[in-house]
Amino acid sequence: MSPGTDIAAYVAGFVAAEGYFGMDRTGTRFRLAVGLGAVDEGSCHLLLELFGVGTVTRSPRRRAHYDDEVTWQVQALPALVGVVVPFMDAHLPPSHKQMQFIAWRAPLLEYWHHRARRVRPCGRAGCPAPSRCKGLCRRHYYLEFGR
Ligand SMILES: [Zn+2]
Repeated sequence: MSPGTDIAAYVAGFVAAEGYFGMDRTGTRFRLAVGLGAVDEGSCHLLLELFGVGTVTRSPRRRAHYDDEVTWQVQALPALVGVVVPFMDAHLPPSHKQMQFIAWRAPLLEYWHHRARRVRPCGRAGCPAPSRCKGLCRRHYYLEFGR
């Protein structure tokens, strides 16, 4: 087994143990979060480094005798769909967490493919502005259709 596979298995086991696949009530906001005690902050940075997406945040202890909490979290749809889902598909071990992942993946992908508004660039060659209407940016739309 290659070292890369070992790391993937380690990370997948880590997510299976500590990960949280979240979705809001409207089914339009998704996240993967791994929250740890501050003593394990290095593991959060390892996740950030390995996946290359998400953020690590440190929050103060919730109670006096608790450790500070460190969380690695991914919320951006392209990162969830393009990085998190393929990794979990390949590496998450059969587990209760895997069942949660599969139940979370379905509405995420449904939302991504059918409902997420992905802004495309303006249709005029060389124009980097986001398209707003009829495939054109605001300026080109008014040049074309405005009076
Ligand atoms: Zn334009």
